[in-house]
Amino acid sequence: MPRPISATLSMSALQNNLQVVRHRSAHSKVWSVVKANAYGHGIARIWQSLRSTDGFALLDFNEAILLRESGWQGPILLLEGFFSAHDLREVSHYRLTTAVHSRWQLAALAAMSVAEPLDIYLKVNSGMNRLGFHPAEVSEIWQQLRSMSQVGHITLMSHFASADSREGVKWQVDNFERSTGHLPGPRSLANSAATLWHPNTHHDWVRPGIILYGASPSGRVEDIADTGLMPVMQLRSEIIAVQNLSAGDRVGYSGRYRAEGQQRIGVVACGYADGYPRHAPSGTPVMVAGVKTQTLGTVSMDMIMVDLTPCPEAQIGSQVELWGNQLPIDEVAASAGTLGYELMSALAPRVPVSVKL
Ligand SMILES: *Cc1c(COP(=O)(O)O)cnc(C)c1O
Repeated sequence: MPRPISATLSMSALQNNLQVVRHRSAHSKVWSVVKANAYGHGIARIWQSLRSTDGFALLDFNEAILLRESGWQGPILLLEGFFSAHDLREVSHYRLTTAVHSRWQLAALAAMSVAEPLDIYLKVNSGMNRLGFHPAEVSEIWQQLRSMSQVGHITLMSHFASADSREGVKWQVDNFERSTGHLPGPRSLANSAATLWHPNTHHDWVRPGIILYGASPSGRVEDIADTGLMPVMQLRSEIIAVQNLSAGDRVGYSGRYRAEGQQRIGVVACGYADGYPRHAPSGTPVMVAGVKTQTLGTVSMDMIMVDLTPCPEAQIGSQVELWGNQLPIDEVAASAGTLGYELMSALAPRVPVSVKL
């Protein structure tokens, strides 16, 4: 028998989440962001369920080519652009839309010969200081690009640093408007948080990622409670052993948890080598036999221990949900000091994945 851990991906949840995005941004086209192998879900497994999207956005050439060769004929956007002048042959061959964020990329474009002009996304650094041109140079860059026969449509693009928090997007929208207000062409600004919470940023194309997979851009599950988003990934395992502790007994590496009295605990076949966060402390929520309980002690490579006090009927073979429908990934992530983004994209290759409708 295989080790009992597995992940299940719900395609109806994925399609539901794309519909939520459609309703929220009814006048915009949608780039479904599938970078990092679709946030750990696997592009090859899920892209067909999203094929009513207007385009897919990612940043790895291999992922872009996989998507093309699997039959996706629509737009594909390279969010980080091309990494060397050599890449432009593939950009052209596979009809990829590419971000342009640095001056060397203009020189590379100007030096190439293309069959068809390339559509590009001109990246404006509106304040995050990650990728993009300073607002003061955007006009000049746009003019240069516009004069190149290698360049087709130019879309103006920027990215938000704090769309999920009180700080919001206004200061970045202002920077963006000041530098691009006089330039024609479509715009694309909104990530998931802005798609949900800043409709004034939707413009021509929204770029949601995390909400397609049913987790919260802010990390707080309360923030998406009224949206209708549904978790796509469920990570499940089973209890493979039970221990009966007495007062003072310690649990796991370094004995970080100590029983105060008699306590029944379960051992779950899931550890950090499966993608469970190693820094999740004792008290991280976990569902055992449909009952919410908590982890105890240090997460091992292959196992975690859980308190069976709230579920005395649990035994070897009982079902465990690490995250999914009963337990939002955001709650587990919050306990471990991280975000759903990191947990889902860190799902380990050794975990068998099944896809259900
Ligand atoms: C990752 C990414 C997105 C999607 O972000 P989410 O917070 O997952 O919605 C959008 N735009 C760019 C440029 C990105 O890198």
